[in-house]
Amino acid sequence: MRAVDLIRKKRDGGELSREEIEFLISGATHERVPDYQMAAFLMAVVWRGMTRAELAALTESMLNSGSVLDWTDLPAAKVDKHSTGGVGDKTSLILAPIVAAAGLYVPMISGRGLGHTGGTLDKLESIPGFNVHLEMEAFRRVLALSRCALIGQTPEIAPADKKLYALRDVTATVESPYLITASIMSKKMAEGIDALVLDVKTGDGAFMKKQADAEYLAELMVETGTRMGKKIVALITDMEQPLGRKIGNSLEVEECIEVLHGGGPADLVELSLELSAWMFVLGGRTKTVNEGRELAAEMIATGRARDTFREVIELQGGEVRVVDDPSLLPHARHTAHLPAKRSGFVTAIRCEQVGVASMTLGGGREKKEDSVDPGVGLVLEKKIGDAVQAGESLCTIHYNSEGKLVPATRLLAQSFEIGDNAPAATPLVLKLIGAEKYS
Ligand code: URA
Repeated sequence: MRAVDLIRKKRDGGELSREEIEFLISGATHERVPDYQMAAFLMAVVWRGMTRAELAALTESMLNSGSVLDWTDLPAAKVDKHSTGGVGDKTSLILAPIVAAAGLYVPMISGRGLGHTGGTLDKLESIPGFNVHLEMEAFRRVLALSRCALIGQTPEIAPADKKLYALRDVTATVESPYLITASIMSKKMAEGIDALVLDVKTGDGAFMKKQADAEYLAELMVETGTRMGKKIVALITDMEQPLGRKIGNSLEVEECIEVLHGGGPADLVELSLELSAWMFVLGGRTKTVNEGRELAAEMIATGRARDTFREVIELQGGEVRVVDDPSLLPHARHTAHLPAKRSGFVTAIRCEQVGVASMTLGGGREKKEDSVDPGVGLVLEKKIGDAVQAGESLCTIHYNSEGKLVPATRLLAQSFEIGDNAPAATPLVLKLIGAEKYS
């Protein structure tokens, strides 16, 4: 087999066989197929797309490029959630302890912030001492003890994706639903889970701005995972405005702690309960989503989810006292307010721009090698539909550097639209994909 023939076949709209795809992926992983040929193949996929059989073969080849974790000795279902990324999207830190407290295992391997969106690892690392780089044995021990463990990507997990993702990043080939599906699903399937709930975001703050694109991606991911024998459901959820009120690493941890104490903003609580409920259903812990929601709410009300969060923090070397005293989290030195220019109702928030503003303050990375400033970020006093008086604060900016405050404020000043009437409320969960067989 020659890579050049396979690239030509894909370029001309042909369908590659499983063996041909395996040849390319294993060749890329072991440096037998050079980067320039893989880049050409990726671009051919962007233009030509893939059949479902090709996508399944691509995902499985990428999965098999590394090891698949094996938790068969653990006595309950292993479940996880993956979000395609948004602004203020912090549900992982809430639902992992909720689901673990109710008896299922959550072996969560997460990523860092990408573009204008935050990442679970950066948030966790704002807890002083929290170690996201556990060796496999330590990951296993934390998971066995507290039923959830939260770590970053390891070299054993889907090394082909690491290679391909780096190439995609610099060859304008990230935006293919087929390549995104294979990338995400190969990594998630390598976690050795039985079931996965996907939170596919759509709207201004999401990577998929159009709902139809989000639905297409969700269908591909559900179908691919189902073919691989896993239980998968996708929730298409709204990202027209940030989730919750806090954006920025330690501010988001603080808001998660509020929820685990029984408080927190309604939208964040609703989505956390909804995603947990689906994890319960797919993991066989409850029969219906309604029961799942009730169980999740019970885990919060009884403090059991909070206790599990404490346990995980402790087992992963973090400062456990933050759960009862969030002032121990890193905080920015200064705050400033963004005043409303007129009275009325907030009719829209440019969500991506708000994410970029938080990144500009230092909460995210401009370049891969940048470090993040855990204390900076935003607290939204007003969200869509809220009444506001001229001069009242729309959001509080937590910052450490005047030089970063200026561009962030400029972005934020253009991010809130205020009109005469409150817009009609929109649902948070817009659609379910793959849910029919569980209802
Ligand atoms: N996240 C991933 O892990 N892979 C993609 O391709 C896109 C987002």
